[in-house]
Amino acid sequence: MEPPAPPHSSRLIVNCDAIAANFHRLSKRVTPAECGAVVKADAYGLGIDAIATALLDAGCRLFFVARLCEAQRLRPIVGSGSEITILNGLDPGSEAACAEAGFVPVLNSATQLAAWRGYARSAARRLPAALQIDTGMSRLGLSPDAALAAAGDPALESELELKLLMTHLACGDEPARAANSEQLRRFEAVAAHFSAVPRSVANSAGAFLPRDFHCDVARPGIALFGVAPVAAAEGLQPVVRLDARILQIRMIEPGTGVGYGLDHIAIAPQRLATVAMGYADGWPRSLGGKGAAWHRGVRLPVVGRISMDSLTIDIGGLAGDAIAEGDFVELLGPSQSLEDVARDAGTIAYDILTGLGPRHARFAIENGQMRAAHEGAAA
Ligand SMILES: *Cc1c(COP(=O)(O)O)cnc(C)c1O
Repeated sequence: MEPPAPPHSSRLIVNCDAIAANFHRLSKRVTPAECGAVVKADAYGLGIDAIATALLDAGCRLFFVARLCEAQRLRPIVGSGSEITILNGLDPGSEAACAEAGFVPVLNSATQLAAWRGYARSAARRLPAALQIDTGMSRLGLSPDAALAAAGDPALESELELKLLMTHLACGDEPARAANSEQLRRFEAVAAHFSAVPRSVANSAGAFLPRDFHCDVARPGIALFGVAPVAAAEGLQPVVRLDARILQIRMIEPGTGVGYGLDHIAIAPQRLATVAMGYADGWPRSLGGKGAAWHRGVRLPVVGRISMDSLTIDIGGLAGDAIAEGDFVELLGPSQSLEDVARDAGTIAYDILTGLGPRHARFAIENGQMRAAHEGAAA
């Protein structure tokens, strides 16, 4: 499937049909728990508009973002029939905006809890909230003791409508770690004191842990975008494809250097292509001399350092007329997954995905049709 014009140097194609399929796969996996969707950071860098719409159409009604500004961006896309929960909670002074829009802030600390209760009293309104318990990750959440104190406070009920009690796993992607069941045990001990409040523990990795971890609500993010959070997570479809244009092709003689620092020196004649993809596009600089682009299943290794706007590959593996200046090579797609690139770059797929920059022309596949997406500058 070829994307429509206008011409572009690189293109990011997001398969929304695959996102919907992944949502259904995860929903089935955690049922009878409800499956929500984490779409923070502009849907992991892929563009909130197309992705939230696809998830809404797939039946998702529980959306999670990190910040108030993301919740505000999301509301007109998903409408008032969906719940939007703000994982990082309330910034000081944001109570009125949060309350007016009906967002659900995650109260992560005693300060956030006191601020939201104080605002509820002054507004004489009962306000929605989620409460996070820190069960061992030491990142966000009330201590179990602070949560128990809140549970025992009779005024809480009249001020806040608790929509969710949640915690987050530190080692969910390592199913054998004892920390997982220890966190679940601590969580359940606190949750027993909030009897009617729905519970949530599982991110993507947690959705592939045993059933007790699924509780009432799952909060997957990365798995929706086709990245397997654990080796055993089968049946997820890849979502992203990234292609970039060849700017120039050249032959170099033995002894010729390539790129900044002349880190690579040819030891034999070498056929090179310079590709419009650099670290400003989110192709990590750590991939200098590592990793590859692909063309029709042929691996084309990176040569020399990654520049801001380009990288150089060895195209000696292709027949002389197999590729020309102006053609596209594959950076992410059927030949090379996000996980492959992350491994070569010494990082995780989340980091590659959220780093893909604003310069790519963006396209979305919906109902088998490709269309230009609004996000990003069509470069
Ligand atoms: C980001 C996040 C998630 C989603 O995590 P994935 O690993 O992408 O599934 C779930 N819950 C919380 C609290 C998060 O911060």
